Amino acid sequence: MKMRSFQVCQCGAPLQMNEAEAPKPQGTQVLLKMLAAGVCHSDLHIWDGYYEIGGGKKLMLADRGIKLPLTMGHENVGEVVAMGPDAKGVKVGDVRLVNPWMGCGTCKVCQRGDENLCLKPQNVGVFDQGGYATHMLVPSHRHLFDIGDLKPEIAAPLACSGVTAFSALKKVPTLQDEAVVIIGAGGVGLMGVTLAKKMGAKDIIIVDIDPAKREAALQAGATRAIDGAAPDAVKQIHAATGGGAWAVIDFVGSSQTANLAIGAIVKGGTVVVVGLFGGDVTVPTPFLPLRAMTLRGSYVGSHGEIAELLDLVNRTGMPQVPIRTRALDEVGAALDDLRAGKVVGRVVLTPAG
Ligand SMILES: [Zn+2]
Ligand SMILES: [Zn+2]
Repeated sequence: MKMRSFQVCQCGAPLQMNEAEAPKPQGTQVLLKMLAAGVCHSDLHIWDGYYEIGGGKKLMLADRGIKLPLTMGHENVGEVVAMGPDAKGVKVGDVRLVNPWMGCGTCKVCQRGDENLCLKPQNVGVFDQGGYATHMLVPSHRHLFDIGDLKPEIAAPLACSGVTAFSALKKVPTLQDEAVVIIGAGGVGLMGVTLAKKMGAKDIIIVDIDPAKREAALQAGATRAIDGAAPDAVKQIHAATGGGAWAVIDFVGSSQTANLAIGAIVKGGTVVVVGLFGGDVTVPTPFLPLRAMTLRGSYVGSHGEIAELLDLVNRTGMPQVPIRTRALDEVGAALDDLRAGKVVGRVVLTPAG
């Protein structure tokens, strides 16, 4: 069986198509034929080889153990075509979502179910070969989830943008009682809006600098929209929330958005930073106690949260995020469009487009 992969062979250079024999699964491994692979903003960082961390400094991904050539793609749904002798709970023909946030599987953190926080991450599409390919080898059946009645291209983004948004929303204690402010209506932010609604949020305020993205968020269920580029954006959030927001989720993560989020919360409020745009913030330490502020990060999601999210979506319907499918061969163009800010919602690669 031939396998085609679109790989990063050099940071920032165009992906290269490589053809090889598909691997034969050993042990608990499962070989999938790819049905859908979502194109995520973090692929741009992986492709470039670094994250901006403010003050002109870069966090180099090579230092985190990322090796080339690498097949990116971490939002994957595929059909089981072969498995090793120890793979359990799946059979040929099953359609499965891959939880890409894999840890070592044996440490305390992994045993607790938080593989996404393992200190030895083995995430597919980041540290190991991902889904921008015709096939993908998954190390163990335990990373596979039944998608129920969902279509592969709808389910695929749940593995990253879905669970990232879901996990961030779960860190908001006042989600059902108070307005929640969501900064950034890109792929993850829009997912956040639609999931917040499903999780019982009644008042969702979207903040984005792009009118088209604000409109998409309103379509997806946001109740109000504020232009993040407005010089009085903080004031507008205070006015909209009656004195400050109880929770702001920053899906951008730039200096500007994180400062906006910190300025927008009320005493006792929570800021959850999710986006990896890059930048830095300075908070006077007395503000932490005096404003009783919670400033925290959220990184993807746990095994249990993926299961919970799939259950939620199967019960309450598909997230209303615009999804555009493109052929796997167009992965380079899809990444270029994402970098140019031309994508509203999510692009998902499928074999036929
Ligand atoms: Zn992602
Ligand atoms: Zn571990």
